[in-house]
Amino acid sequence: MAFEGLSEKLSAAFKRLKQKGKLDEKDVKTAMREVRLALLEADVNYKVTKQFVSAVTERAVGAAVFESLTPAQQVIKIVHEELINLMGSEVSRLQIPSKGQCVIMMCGLQGSGKTTHSGKLAKLLKGQGHRPLLVACDVYRPAAIKQLQVVGEQAGVPVFEMGQIDPVEIAKKALAHARDYGNDIVILDTAGRLHIDEQLMGELENIKSAVDPSEILLVIDAMTGQDAVNVAQSFNDLLEITGVVLTKLDGDTRGGAALSVKAVTGKPIKFSGTGEKLDDLEPFYPDRMASRILG
Ligand code: GDP
Repeated sequence: MAFEGLSEKLSAAFKRLKQKGKLDEKDVKTAMREVRLALLEADVNYKVTKQFVSAVTERAVGAAVFESLTPAQQVIKIVHEELINLMGSEVSRLQIPSKGQCVIMMCGLQGSGKTTHSGKLAKLLKGQGHRPLLVACDVYRPAAIKQLQVVGEQAGVPVFEMGQIDPVEIAKKALAHARDYGNDIVILDTAGRLHIDEQLMGELENIKSAVDPSEILLVIDAMTGQDAVNVAQSFNDLLEITGVVLTKLDGDTRGGAALSVKAVTGKPIKFSGTGEKLDDLEPFYPDRMASRILG
């Protein structure tokens, strides 16, 4: 289960704290050392961990925690609140302009779940009364176009494709097609590589400037741990993403990406992917995630 190791280690640290009854600064610092290790082992980014631990320590030592009747509970409450802050404090919704066309550009590494989540998002938006169009801009693998068509069929959403031609051209034509056919939202499934490379980034930048997306969502596989943060940083530097879709949270991810991405990029996690089916998509709730981590 996701976050299992982290949850176990945190609850062990807090159990010891609760057994203490009265607390002093030293007890808090000891517990925070355990929290720090637990976060690092869960692949939370080093700087994020450091900032998190010092924020909690400062608040716990500064507040009247030690006079409280339940000091350990107060410390846990602070950890809970800071975990929520770390992940973005509130639910971050899609920016859909009230008038005109909305373009959502999905990007990310190969295998992160872009095509699947393009389909999930299309299905969700269709259910909300929109008329999305899925667009096959991943032109390097014929199988990717086919996969999007399958996903589109499952979602009951049309798919626009022009085979293996220049994806910038496809994106532009897709916008015109959407205007003609009354599709208010255009979802671009772009190409991914196994690693970030300049050519791919150049292509994504060209698509971005050609179609001016309302949302550039970076699809990140939560199972990739520390690397997820590096990927997020690189994509954000080049494309100025508007948000993240964190996928495969149904797997046994250690949690690092969920806890680091917002802090490192400043961009919110907007959705979480929780399975292979098209309905396995949820808004990302920082408070629920924090509660899940604390068990
Ligand atoms: P793309 O290369 O980025 O387009 O990735 P795909 O959409 O093809 O997804 C890669 C693999 O991950 C596929 O086998 C999907 O079924 C699977 N997958 C995608 N999202 C999720 C998810 O949220 N949970 C699980 N368990 N599997 C997922």
